[in-house]
Amino acid sequence: MSNFIDDLDSLIGKSFVSPNKCKVWLIMHKLQPDEAAKLNELINNTSVSANSISKILYQNKHFLSGAIVSRHRRRSSGTGCACP
Ligand SMILES: [Zn+2]
Repeated sequence: MSNFIDDLDSLIGKSFVSPNKCKVWLIMHKLQPDEAAKLNELINNTSVSANSISKILYQNKHFLSGAIVSRHRRRSSGTGCACP
């Protein structure tokens, strides 16, 4: 089997992609539990701007825009993402 097929094969069962889950959710599931808990805490703290969270995430190579963080914050209002 070619390496290309091996590489493609390696994706099976590893993807967290779901149409109902936004990028915030995807990144949360890639982080260590303590990191995810801290990120969640900041996202739920509306005194911290979405753009400042986005900036720190970019610095740590998690490419998530402020707009997506804002959308995730609005998830319970019906105008945001579909995350639980
Ligand atoms: Zn979300």
